Amino acid sequence: LEPDYSFLIRVRVPGGIVNADQWLQMNQISEEYANGTIKLTTRQAFQFHGVLKGNLKPSMKAINKALLDTIAACGDVNRNVMASPHPYSSSVFDQVQELAGKLSDHLTPRTPAYYEIWLDQKKVAHASTGEVEPLYGPVYLPRKFKIGFTIPPFNDIDVFTQDLGFIAIENNGKLEGFNVAIGGGMGTTFGEISTYPRLGNVIGFIQTDKVIDFAEKIVLLQKELGNRKERKNARLKYTIDQLGLENFKQLLINRLGYQPEPERAYTLVRNSDKFGWHLAKDKHWYLGLFIEGGRIKNQDNSLLKSALKEIANLHISDFRLTGNQNLVLGKIKEHDKTKINQILKNNGLLPQSISGARTNSIACVALNTCSLAFAEAERYLPSLMNKLEVSLSEFGLFRDEIVIRMTGCPNGCGRPYVAEIGFIGKGPGRYNLYLGGNFEGTRLNRLYRENMNEEEILESLTPLFQDYSEHRNNGESFGDFVIRKDYVAPILNPKDFKH
Ligand code: SF4
Repeated sequence: LEPDYSFLIRVRVPGGIVNADQWLQMNQISEEYANGTIKLTTRQAFQFHGVLKGNLKPSMKAINKALLDTIAACGDVNRNVMASPHPYSSSVFDQVQELAGKLSDHLTPRTPAYYEIWLDQKKVAHASTGEVEPLYGPVYLPRKFKIGFTIPPFNDIDVFTQDLGFIAIENNGKLEGFNVAIGGGMGTTFGEISTYPRLGNVIGFIQTDKVIDFAEKIVLLQKELGNRKERKNARLKYTIDQLGLENFKQLLINRLGYQPEPERAYTLVRNSDKFGWHLAKDKHWYLGLFIEGGRIKNQDNSLLKSALKEIANLHISDFRLTGNQNLVLGKIKEHDKTKINQILKNNGLLPQSISGARTNSIACVALNTCSLAFAEAERYLPSLMNKLEVSLSEFGLFRDEIVIRMTGCPNGCGRPYVAEIGFIGKGPGRYNLYLGGNFEGTRLNRLYRENMNEEEILESLTPLFQDYSEHRNNGESFGDFVIRKDYVAPILNPKDFKH
């Protein structure tokens, strides 16, 4: 008798946008083959949990039928390419999305094994000749590689946490090109001081038509120079620090055959999402919905999954997965807004009264789904938030936006190292508490207290909330406040990071 193996499936969605039919198909797969829920990830992907071994192949076929796939959603390759799904203030949104899709296609492995294994296609490469991967070659990359595009003033894909981040530069509604940031990455390992989170360095500006070649050259450099002896130090961030940024940049310039132009000016204002209704420049309406922990499910009187299925069945919007595990319903016509509001109301989702801290929260799956987790995150953060909200309310901070992120281990999938308040699981019921990231996602946080249980977390944060409420400067964010008041010192060099 074989054990009843259960799997996770991650569906790649470059740029995070699917149409109503695709949403319905994902909904169907979750019910037919998985545990009945859908997880929206921090890389704008779908995840299905609890897929039994016998359901793997039918799931993959159904995903393929929806014109989506799982290729390179994991592994030592370029992962799902992220792109901001918020079009509100930009005229170049569609162009950036299209480019993210093209780059994703360009960097997707060509292996036919996926189709042979999951879609019953005959083997197309002979075993003795092997498969040809024009970009990755026979050994792929030393480690995963992450790319994201953001359109200022939003930084909802946390552009500086990506191995390669593109910051769109727009001038009078025209896409001029991108500032490029290289060497970001979140993952660390407890006790391994050679591991640390790092924010990407902006190394200049490139024209739009150079993006794909630029990305390819960086990927190839990392393929050749990345550490293949020690996986913990294999990400691009370590390659750059080992060589020195200027040396790496020079190698890159040699490959490119040109020097990037000087960095252009830009402003980022938030790394979280915008919620509620917004009219974009394309004259369509967009509705940002907070999805706690990114989990699409029905619970008690809040029938989120049913409501979204009902909306999808009307075919009056697209569905946009954000990098913060939330959802934007997009491309909605003025006269369809009331239909959507009514469905949300009928399913117990409106009116919503959610704290500013909760709407800016992220939790990775952690226990009991992720085998790397030391502690809970998605299943625990909502109840911790209930308790934190008591003191936030007491000090008049219920509406204040504070970025809170929790992960079950230091691998950092929920990008906790740039949160204003970051929790990283140390063991069951125990977390390291990090403070001092900023609201724009441009500063790393620092370890404030170690190995804390819930009581200690509440005891630590309550006086900080009180102090913040009473002594903050006008418009000062929580992360900036704790730095100004010396609760923690800013991290100026990533290697100062403490585990
Ligand atoms: Fe990622 Fe760690 Fe969370 Fe697992 S527990 S999802 S590896 S951060």
